[in-house]
Amino acid sequence: MRIARFTTGDDPQFGVITGDIDELGQPADDSLVTVLRGDPLYTGIEPTDQQVRLADVRLLAPVIPRSKVVAIGKNYAAHAAEMGGDLPPEPLMFLKPNTSVVGPGDPVFYPRQTTELHYEGELAVVIGRICRDVPAEQATDVILGYTVANDVTARDLQRSDGQWSRAKGFDSFCPLGPWIETDLDPHDFAEGRAVQTHLNGDLVQDGSTRDLVFDIPTLVAHISSVMTLLPGDVILTGTPEGVGPMHVGDEVEVSIAGLGTLTNRVVARD
Ligand code: MG
Repeated sequence: MRIARFTTGDDPQFGVITGDIDELGQPADDSLVTVLRGDPLYTGIEPTDQQVRLADVRLLAPVIPRSKVVAIGKNYAAHAAEMGGDLPPEPLMFLKPNTSVVGPGDPVFYPRQTTELHYEGELAVVIGRICRDVPAEQATDVILGYTVANDVTARDLQRSDGQWSRAKGFDSFCPLGPWIETDLDPHDFAEGRAVQTHLNGDLVQDGSTRDLVFDIPTLVAHISSVMTLLPGDVILTGTPEGVGPMHVGDEVEVSIAGLGTLTNRVVARD
């Protein structure tokens, strides 16, 4: 099931998308959205008898995390190497504020404070239930589904600050979308799903979730041993190698095979 959050010009609604998707997760032109009653994270899946065409809606971030985005650094060996460091011995956690979340098609604002804005295409995990101390073997019980993320980073500020709250935390630094896919599980990602980033149409990251150093159950167990996870919290699982700069006017697309493509454009901040 693909759960989307969307608007037709009025208040945001949730819906389930029906229709074929291609290998990269692009939906067919005739896809429909069955409108749901309420927010599925809190009320469950309650379909109404109302349907709209996917082509007639604007997709929004499929979830606004109630409390936090927990992100993992250096979780692909080749990316850790390109950053000039060793692999961390256990998952390296940091937080992005929920105010950094934007949706498909929304602008990523280029802050005045940086001259080195980078993309990081990533698989995102959406938590479905309040939980803490989750054993790895029960991680799937607390996962609602998966979406695509861009862990936008001010690389120069990441280096100069020493910790990453500012470098990773500006408004618009966490595009999520285009929807939440609930029919995949950690096994699918362990087998390998392509994670690709295109910048202005050029392929700049070409990784696979097969190469995650710490897999999804391990991340859920590790994070929930530190902090309670709430419904709608999001885990970013790390980026493959190939990170690099974006400039004002650039279009960045992050795709995960079978999951979808998240597209955003970089815009100057006033
Ligand atoms: Mg990252």
